Amino acid sequence: MHVIVQKYGGTSVADTDRIRGVAQRLVEMHREGYAMVAVISAMAGVTDNLLNLAHAVSAKPTPRELDLLLATGENAATALVAMAINALGIRAVSLTGAEAGILTDRTHAKAKIANISPRQIHNMLDEDYIVVVAGFQGQNPEGEITTLGRGGSDLTAIALAGALNADACQIFTDVDGVFTCDPRLIKDAQKLDEISYDELLEMAGAGSKVMQSRAVEFAKKFAVPFEVRSSFTGLAGTLAKEETRNMEDVVVRGVSIDRKQAKITIRGLPDQAGVAGHIFSAIASANIIVDMIVQNVSTGNTTDLSFTVHENDLEQARQLLKPIAKKIGAVELTGHDGVAKLSVVGIGMRSHSGVAAKLFECLGHGGINIQLISTSEIKIAVVVDEKDAATAARLTHQAFGLARLAPAAALS
Ligand code: ADP
Ligand code: ASP
Ligand code: MG
Repeated sequence: MHVIVQKYGGTSVADTDRIRGVAQRLVEMHREGYAMVAVISAMAGVTDNLLNLAHAVSAKPTPRELDLLLATGENAATALVAMAINALGIRAVSLTGAEAGILTDRTHAKAKIANISPRQIHNMLDEDYIVVVAGFQGQNPEGEITTLGRGGSDLTAIALAGALNADACQIFTDVDGVFTCDPRLIKDAQKLDEISYDELLEMAGAGSKVMQSRAVEFAKKFAVPFEVRSSFTGLAGTLAKEETRNMEDVVVRGVSIDRKQAKITIRGLPDQAGVAGHIFSAIASANIIVDMIVQNVSTGNTTDLSFTVHENDLEQARQLLKPIAKKIGAVELTGHDGVAKLSVVGIGMRSHSGVAAKLFECLGHGGINIQLISTSEIKIAVVVDEKDAATAARLTHQAFGLARLAPAAALS
């Protein structure tokens, strides 16, 4: 029995016509003899609407209730897909995450999958059903509903493909695959035929929301290759997999932009052991995620420290750090939103030099000032003014020869 897991994102089930289209596709694959498992997201916009409702009735919705609420979006779409399949004369069953055997830890809103017992899915596949699973959700040890973080249906699909030892895992979305840059930002971005887990992980973490980072992390950890492809065309998509040697020939695979960033700078910090630990443990205890961190070489026993957070966390971080900065004896604490992070990613950077120089030169020629720089083995990231982000992405995309038609530069 060849098992295929297909995930359909919100835009793929945005209305009843599209839901019928998804049902049709699943039925065709079933007729070809595949055992089909579909993972379904909430219809486009539904999760955001539910979040808005929650915040309209409560300034701080309780996490348990929020998860119960958000899971209804996936439940509805999943039941509708199963009904549409049944209407085509093929048997389908819809399962919640809990019924599908997805067990998580107790962290509401960002639960981690602890274990999957897909007995129910196996039973239904054996009886020739198409199994339709609600994405983005599981249950904790107390049997309460948990959700897996925004974009979490990707994780459901990858984790189920791993647990079922599926022959293929396909992530259907509203673009043809993973592109060299967000195709909505750069019109001449190219679809990639393949990408390594590490590259996709860096791109997802750097703002390319085509795949949830945690899903890619899971795929890498449990060696689950998957394809990202369009639910609107029959075209082959992008295969995400363990890297192979020839993948290193491409120096830069993609460019990502992460908007809505904020930069905090603490000037005149005493250059003493424990100071950074003090600052970042305060930030961590408020569950604020810090991204880039840059500390200057000290002059005269003081140093400057800058780091980035999401703009939504700026005010809280600033309030939290004010008394700490004062106590430590720092000279000044400043925070600004309106910055963006631009990243170039590629495993080829490990074996090629000059990538940083080329990026800085390209931005310099474009008159774009770089505020912070950070590097990893396969990524170089810079913080720029948000108003320069689109131009910076376009120039960088061109400079590294990623554009489909040269010379091109269409910007929406
Ligand atoms: P779904 O609802 O199917 O999960 P998402 O909206 O989460 O879809 O992800 C698809 C979107 O990701 C695309 O519409 C595209 O604008 C965006 N995106 C960002 N960066 C990239 C990239 N490098 N390649 C492809 N799509 C990207
Ligand atoms: N519906 C959830 C979200 O919008 C999960 C998903 O679509 O993957 O984040
Ligand atoms: Mg998504």
